Amino acid sequence: MRILVTGGAGFIGSALVRMLIEQTESVVLNFDKLTYASHPESLAGVADSERYHFVQADICDRARLELVLQQFQPDHVMHLAAESHVDRSIDGPAEFIQTNIVGTYTLLEACRSYYQTLGQAQQRRFRLHHISTDEVFGSLTETGLFSETSAYDPSSPYSASKASADHLVRAWHRTYALPIVISNCSNNYGPFQYPEKLIPLMVTNALQSKPLPIYGNGQQVRDWLYVDDHVKALYLVATQGQLGQTYNIGGSCEQTNLTVVRHICALLEELVPTHPQSLAMGNAGFADLIQYVVDRPGHDVRYAIDASKIQRELGWRAQESFESGLRKTVEWIINQPYPKTSD
Ligand code: NAD
Repeated sequence: MRILVTGGAGFIGSALVRMLIEQTESVVLNFDKLTYASHPESLAGVADSERYHFVQADICDRARLELVLQQFQPDHVMHLAAESHVDRSIDGPAEFIQTNIVGTYTLLEACRSYYQTLGQAQQRRFRLHHISTDEVFGSLTETGLFSETSAYDPSSPYSASKASADHLVRAWHRTYALPIVISNCSNNYGPFQYPEKLIPLMVTNALQSKPLPIYGNGQQVRDWLYVDDHVKALYLVATQGQLGQTYNIGGSCEQTNLTVVRHICALLEELVPTHPQSLAMGNAGFADLIQYVVDRPGHDVRYAIDASKIQRELGWRAQESFESGLRKTVEWIINQPYPKTSD
């Protein structure tokens, strides 16, 4: 299998590339612009493989995309390249519109041209897998779960740009018969995530005795999934998902943001007992660093995924418990010689 991965130097993309090289026979081409969020060191272990190729380029560059598709001749394209941080999308939506919407449109058009040049056997194998988020569905109240048929109701520029991309991908299937599959996943965590996202931000701040900023009252609920479980699901969707279908992926692991942060504080006290914050007497240790800050505008209250379709049809189920996944993630950050910080 020849697989072109966009965004393969990012958090989830690099976990996918590592899995494809280490656990399958796939030949992989990673097409990534290397923005601030990329982490090329995450690919150090696979960079020397003869089955791994890298092109530094922008998915908005159609000529480059078409050339790479023609030269590499992929069976599958797995599209992860995106601007991915909600707060940045609120401060400056332009990049999100450009990469997430225009970039996805450009990739669709390049794939459509490429698909038309393929012979029948290659056409039967080809598919574009668009990787998206549960945030396209907006916010849940206390009950209910997002299913594949939930209405789209995005709240932030990020989720609106991803929702637009999902609609474009579906339209290219219905209008031009481009073979596609889509997956919408909940919050991921694990090694190599840029420390602007909740878990790595809290761990890196805590290690530097900096404040741990919690939006509003910290009661927003997210469904957490360990990144290696997500990439296993992605491989199943890409290779065995039904064309034109959407699959929701989630960990059935709902936690409030405050619970996650308290959990991290407790883990740090255990894992770095000699840190001044652990040693301080008469206080709450790392939890003393928690600071409540003004809530994010348009902050969704709760996300939760019904993953029964992918379980039923593709036999996927999350393997990693939140306790062990979080411990591995925190240990990984602690062991970084020079943790990348967000400032
Ligand atoms: P990330 O921000 O860590 O990585 C994004 C990667 O895309 C980076 O390597 C970056 O260099 C690359 N990129 C950005 N703009 C590009 C462009 N114009 N051309 C080429 N490459 C470009 O993101 P992530 O957290 O790994 O997310 C990957 C995908 O999964 C995204 O599409 C995101 O919407 C989706 N997703 C993420 C989560 C999550 O919890 N992180 C959950 C569900 C879905």
